Amino acid sequence: MVIPAARPVDTELNEENTMSQTAEASFAPPEVAPRLWIGGAWRDPEGGATMDVIDPATGRAVAQVAAASTGDVAAAAAAARTAFRDGEWARMPARERSRVLLRAAALMRERVEELAQAESLDVGKPIAFARMIDVPNAADLYEYYGTLAPHLDGATRDVPIPAFAYTRCEPRGVVAAISPFNFPLILSSSKIAPALAAGNTVVHKPSPLTPLSALLMAELLRDAGVPDGVYNVVTGPGAELGDALVRDPAVDMVAFTGSTAVGRVVARTAGELLKPVAAELGGNAANILFADADLDQAVGAVINAFVFNTGQFCMAGPRLLVERPVYDTVVGILEQAVGGVPLGRPSDPGTVIGPLASAAQRDRVDEMVRDAVASGGRVVTGGERIELDGGFYYAPTVIVDLPDDALAVREEVFGPVLTVQAFDTEDEAVALANGTAYGLAAGVQTTDISRAHRVAARLEAGIVWVNGWAMLDAAMPFGGVKDSGWGRENGPEALASFTRSKSVIIGLGQPGG
Ligand code: NAD
Repeated sequence: MVIPAARPVDTELNEENTMSQTAEASFAPPEVAPRLWIGGAWRDPEGGATMDVIDPATGRAVAQVAAASTGDVAAAAAAARTAFRDGEWARMPARERSRVLLRAAALMRERVEELAQAESLDVGKPIAFARMIDVPNAADLYEYYGTLAPHLDGATRDVPIPAFAYTRCEPRGVVAAISPFNFPLILSSSKIAPALAAGNTVVHKPSPLTPLSALLMAELLRDAGVPDGVYNVVTGPGAELGDALVRDPAVDMVAFTGSTAVGRVVARTAGELLKPVAAELGGNAANILFADADLDQAVGAVINAFVFNTGQFCMAGPRLLVERPVYDTVVGILEQAVGGVPLGRPSDPGTVIGPLASAAQRDRVDEMVRDAVASGGRVVTGGERIELDGGFYYAPTVIVDLPDDALAVREEVFGPVLTVQAFDTEDEAVALANGTAYGLAAGVQTTDISRAHRVAARLEAGIVWVNGWAMLDAAMPFGGVKDSGWGRENGPEALASFTRSKSVIIGLGQPGG
């Protein structure tokens, strides 16, 4: 994933946010019934309950999905267990599984518009990004792991005993895939595609805020040839269903992406049950801009890093650290340019900043900005809600003069908010960058190649970008250190995490015996 070059931020712009009045407020919702996908069929939820899907662009309900109960979770886990134990998926040659995943990738590309509109409607994601980033990158994951699946194998080992010794690379069993609201399709595919490639079966619990793409994927994966029970979806109240899923005895592994607070709860529960858990948690990345950077390019990267996905990006760059000689210049450019980034309806192809995904998220961002001002911060631009169609919009906001211990510096804001601090030395920049509990991503903007490598090595983060932001690919692992968790998604590393090795040692008897 690279924030598309087709959509650079024009640092020359000096206008207020332009809100498009031309497009429809939202798309027609996909035709999803309020049912659960369990064992390869749509089922009514046990209690018959439903819940609304809210369009963040209008605040109105646009669809209803099933509100599952813990009984439904147990049914889904049991279906996944049966499919794993008795079905063909775990046993079929990896090359056959590969073909299914490659077909899924092709179908996602064919159905790009349907998936992109659902994602845009659900999250408030600008449609251009849903089309160019979310769906293609999710399809890439199926393609990448489809391609990798046949290469998953064990090894023979030379042992000093009369035995033939080898390892087998086996799936773990039933994987609980628990995904967050901000990139529903990508962050569920980054679990489901490698889990399936390795021969596991899956119960997916999407965020209750953004369940639509998971339901569309149910039929898409069936059409690609995924056997019944191998992929199951339960929608409904997040904490109750998520907890039941983690605890379910049929679940062998938990792949979780979400906040650090919920990640701790999930890790504690899984730990007690001795279930492996991949934890992809919150972030609060620093972006270090050295005075020797190419300023035009660097400021473009800085703006993209905090406005992309309306700042609801675990690997966003909400903390800008600027070397003092260029501090005033950079703040001046930001003051002029940020207000000109097109903010508007997600359905407008020109929109770069859409609404936040929920009213609660918008209110939280506003509270964090108020707190920053109370802590001595000065809002250079933004700092207010935007009224449009009753949606959950917030102006892109830049705050300067904040102390290191301000909440907006220490904690994840998860909205289009940038804090800017000055530094004098490389050591100070590294200390500030590493100075929060998080460690998911970091950035270095510099033209000094030696400094780039030196600083990248010192940053406490799972991924470091030099001269850019959010350069991501299915082949490159990402994940956190410290409070950002310990999982790795993407790359062969993620595939390996959905497998376990088994040693087989065959006694050869005595020579001549
Ligand atoms: P969240 O923690 O509120 O929810 C994540 C998922 O966990 C949802 O599906 C939710 O329903 C479920 N859940 C809630 N309580 C649970 C429980 N007790 N047991 C099991 N599951 C439970 O996160 P969110 O608000 O959906 O997403 C935003 C957060 O996710 C941010 O902190 C962001 O940084 C993080 N995130 C991290 C990454 C990463 O790769 N590290 C990627 C995207 C988002």
